[in-house]
Amino acid sequence: TNDNQPLLEVRQVSRRFGALVAVDRVSFSIQKGEIFGIAGPNGSGKSTLFNIITGIPFPPSAGEVFLAGQPIHKLRPHQISRAGVLRTFQKDAEFATLSALENVYASAVYCGQMGSNEARVAAQQALDDVSLAAERRTKAASDLSVFERKQLMIASAIAARPKVLLLDEPAAGLTRPETSDLADLIYTVHGRGITIVLIEHVLPLLLKVSEHLMVLNHGAVIASGKPEEVVRNPVVVAAYLGK
Ligand code: ADP
Ligand code: MG
Repeated sequence: TNDNQPLLEVRQVSRRFGALVAVDRVSFSIQKGEIFGIAGPNGSGKSTLFNIITGIPFPPSAGEVFLAGQPIHKLRPHQISRAGVLRTFQKDAEFATLSALENVYASAVYCGQMGSNEARVAAQQALDDVSLAAERRTKAASDLSVFERKQLMIASAIAARPKVLLLDEPAAGLTRPETSDLADLIYTVHGRGITIVLIEHVLPLLLKVSEHLMVLNHGAVIASGKPEEVVRNPVVVAAYLGK
C-alpha cells in the first residue's frame, strides 16, 4: 500500500431512477483522517450518494467505489459495513424499545463483529465518549431527548469502530447550542481515528468542521475544494438561490 492512496475513492458513480439521474458521474477521494463535507440543495442526490456507497438499499447503476484500494461496490451491504464503511440515516434508526446501552451494544456486535465481552466494553466506552449520562443509558431509546438520540447515534457508530463514517444531516432537529455540541461530538469521533464524510444542511456546522467541501446540484459535482472558497463560488451561490 502506498501513503497517498485514498482511504475512500468514488469513481464516476451514477444512480438512475427511471428517467431521473439522481447521482450523475460523481467522483471524489478522501484521505484517511479527513473530515469531508458534502452540501447541495434538497434533492441534489446527497443521500442517494451515501446509499450507493454503502449498498443500502441499492448499489450504483454505474461506477466504482474503493476502500483502501479494494473495490467494494459489488459487495453486499453487510460486507461493506464490516469492511469499515458505516452510515447514519436522516431519520432516527435506533431500536426504539431497546435501551441506549442495548442499542450501542447491538451495533458493536453486528456492525463491529465483536464478541459479547468486547462489545460490552466498547458500548460503555462509546457512551462515555459522547457523554451520555449514566442514568440515561438504561432508558428506552424512544424516551431519550432529540439530542440524546444524536448522542446514541454517534455512540452506536463509534462502538462499531468503522474506518469511515458517513453522517447524513446529523444536525436535523437540533437547536443552535445543540448543533454546536454536535460539532464537538463529530470531533470526538474524528479523534477516535475515524474518517468522516458529512452531509449537512446547516452550513455553519459544515463550514466549521469540514476540511474539504464538495457541492452537488442535480446529482452532479458543481464545486469541490477549500470550504471557504467553495461557498463563494458563483456557481454554488446560484445553485442555492435557484431553488
Ligand atoms: P438529497 O439527499 O440531496 O436531498 P436525495 O438523494 O434524497 O437528495 O434525492 C435525489 C433525487 O433522487 C430526488 O429527486 C429524489 O426524489 C430521487 N430519489 C431518491 N431516492 C429515490 C428512490 N428510491 N426512487 C426514486 N427516486 C428517488
Ligand atoms: Mg438527503
